[in-house]
Amino acid sequence: MATTESTSRRGRVLVVSGPSGVGKGTLLKRLFDSAEFPLRTSVSATTRAPRVGEENGVHYWFMTREEFVARRDRGEFLESFEVYEGGALYGTLRKTVEESVRLGDWVVLEIDVKGARSVVAQIPDAVTIFIAPPSLDALRERLTARGTETREELEKRMAQASSEIAQSDFYRYRIINDDLDVAYEELVAVMREVARS
Ligand code: ADP
Ligand code: 5GP
Repeated sequence: MATTESTSRRGRVLVVSGPSGVGKGTLLKRLFDSAEFPLRTSVSATTRAPRVGEENGVHYWFMTREEFVARRDRGEFLESFEVYEGGALYGTLRKTVEESVRLGDWVVLEIDVKGARSVVAQIPDAVTIFIAPPSLDALRERLTARGTETREELEKRMAQASSEIAQSDFYRYRIINDDLDVAYEELVAVMREVARS
């Protein structure tokens, strides 16, 4: 049931980008667990296969390319892109974002740079945050240690990383995730600024 507080709260759209393996998921999980802010995740849709431990409706809505394209053609996505060339499609469901904003929540979109540009074109007051690695070597180490990609997928992610980092000027906030605790404190400081704005 909606409380007075939730109905008077201003809904917001937060866009978080950064190369795969930089630590977006790790930082955001901590932020969600802290429960300091009225955050809600936007579960994206994708045509990629689930990784071990990933659940439908929790990590992504996993769907076939046919279903994805049909839903895209019906206008169900706020944005959708092939994030890695020749790879899977990823997209943000319009309904999730609209519902969250209506409820006064802060909906977090963990999306790539193309997606971020598309969202800002449609929602100019979206808050954009870029998480950068301390170096490309550190990024490679993290991706390797995570061990969730094949060699080929890892190389695709590394190839994309430099071009994503080169576009980080587009974002209102930029956080370097070197020491996790320091990066987390910076993220919390950004959230507090958002809460005041
Ligand atoms: P993303 O969601 O951006 O793809 P993850 O949150 O899955 O990245 O992080 C990738 C890997 O890097 C994970 O194994 C995570 O534990 C690790 N990691 C995250 N932040 C740091 C950090 N500051 N220093 C070292 N390792 C980190
Ligand atoms: P992964 O396959 O590692 O889960 O995601 C790869 C990248 O796809 C992520 O780093 C994220 O930036 C991007 N991504 C995930 N969901 C979406 C989405 O809905 N839209 C867009 N544009 N990118 C997404």
